[in-house]
Amino acid sequence: MFVSHTPMAKRSYYISTSIPYVNAAPHIGHALEFVQADVLARYHRRRGDDVFFLTGTDENSLKNVIAAETAKVQVKDWVERLAKVFKNLAQKLSISNNDFIRTSAEKRHIDGAKKLWNACRPEDIYKKKYKGLYCIGCEEFKTMKDLQGGRCEEHPNQDIQEVEEENYFFRLSAYQDRLEKLIADDALLIVPESRKNEILSFIRGGLEDFSISRSRERAKDWGVPVPGDQNQIMYVWVDALSNYITALDYADNGEKYQKYWVGGDNICHLIGKNITRFHAVYWPAILLSAGVRLPQTLFVHGFFTINGQKISKSLGNVIDPFDLIEKYGTDALRYYLLSEIPSHEDGDFSIEKFEARYNGNLANGLGNYAARVLTLAHNANIANWNANVANEEIQEKIKGTRKTVSEKIDDFKLHEALSTIWELISFGDKYINENKPWAKSVEDGSPEQASEARFREITIYNALYILENVAELLKPFLPETADKVLRAIQHSGKNIEVNKLPPLFPRLQ
Ligand SMILES: [Zn+2]
Repeated sequence: MFVSHTPMAKRSYYISTSIPYVNAAPHIGHALEFVQADVLARYHRRRGDDVFFLTGTDENSLKNVIAAETAKVQVKDWVERLAKVFKNLAQKLSISNNDFIRTSAEKRHIDGAKKLWNACRPEDIYKKKYKGLYCIGCEEFKTMKDLQGGRCEEHPNQDIQEVEEENYFFRLSAYQDRLEKLIADDALLIVPESRKNEILSFIRGGLEDFSISRSRERAKDWGVPVPGDQNQIMYVWVDALSNYITALDYADNGEKYQKYWVGGDNICHLIGKNITRFHAVYWPAILLSAGVRLPQTLFVHGFFTINGQKISKSLGNVIDPFDLIEKYGTDALRYYLLSEIPSHEDGDFSIEKFEARYNGNLANGLGNYAARVLTLAHNANIANWNANVANEEIQEKIKGTRKTVSEKIDDFKLHEALSTIWELISFGDKYINENKPWAKSVEDGSPEQASEARFREITIYNALYILENVAELLKPFLPETADKVLRAIQHSGKNIEVNKLPPLFPRLQ
């Protein structure tokens, strides 16, 4: 017989968000990515994994420099101010990140980005005179076929820059076959499948070498200098992508880098659909060149439209996540973001839909069930809770719900995980409505009454058992709400002390 003498080592799980530019305050899309990543981090911690959850800000962009110039503020001060706003949003959303990296201000990042550059095979980096069309909005070179009437589709109000200069190039073309195989075989897993297919057809269309630096002048003297060449600044995407390892102290070959990256069991980047190419093509190619292992998974989420329209400052439809938190509360916003948008696809935001979901699923669904059950259980005066065991049908239902929720989260279908939990709430509601424990409480000392009282106790116990499981399952999604419910149900010895709660989600008028 095999006897293990060492306790099983915890599996590591490394989850990152993309790091947003700090040219403007965060919008609802940033809140979405924070919250999705947080669910994954919390879920894996609860599963016993050793989780490292990273987020941060991408500060070396030309966009940021221009935003600072427009605001007549020093770039350094501007990015610091905006980074604080993003940090504050993470806090207000109860995001459980372990670290927050700022790419302009931290030595670990600057040193790490340079180290990664130097680690690339010398034959992969070469200097070339180049002429191209650059969209500062995208921070990306465009070809004529990417543009419509000479303008970027994403940034129609910005002028496309014509750039002619000598830059460093990365030999991406050398990695075409390896990248195709890695992605086709799911060694680098891209979820959902539709994004994987998009990237595969992009790779099969032929990969061209890309520029990985710009002149100090064009970079407006802002960014990470190219090692050994003071006249060139790294292309912002090259330094930005490296944040995933620089934050782990790649520069010093640190303990976190060894644990979560080199020997990591599960490395996952959560990103928006507009930057899949950078993460599925450029980033793995650079890592291959530098002899650094690749991440396992890219989860690609969709975008929000606002009342059916693209979020855009010029349309004036930018929704401030701080306002929503202020008005409706953190968990209400988390719930909306996680349930309204199918994790793999696009979703739409409107205040009407937000309020309908709030009243329908939070005030009525979860809030009402919790209030009913806690009140019944509090008033029931049950002396010996431990005499009760949840009935088999309920135990089966909960077991099935747990299994489905885990599977859905593993597949990055967070909205389906949530609707599975809401099915359990409806199941609990139906159970109480059918068994009507409140109708069985007349005390007259007769044997019939005794058996009715017993039935009532069992019913209330079962309803409470369901509620407790709902709250446990909700922990990664609505952490504050789950804690409130669980704190209201205190187990002590044979007894359970149940407290009533003020409404979890007061109804909106
Ligand atoms: Zn653009």
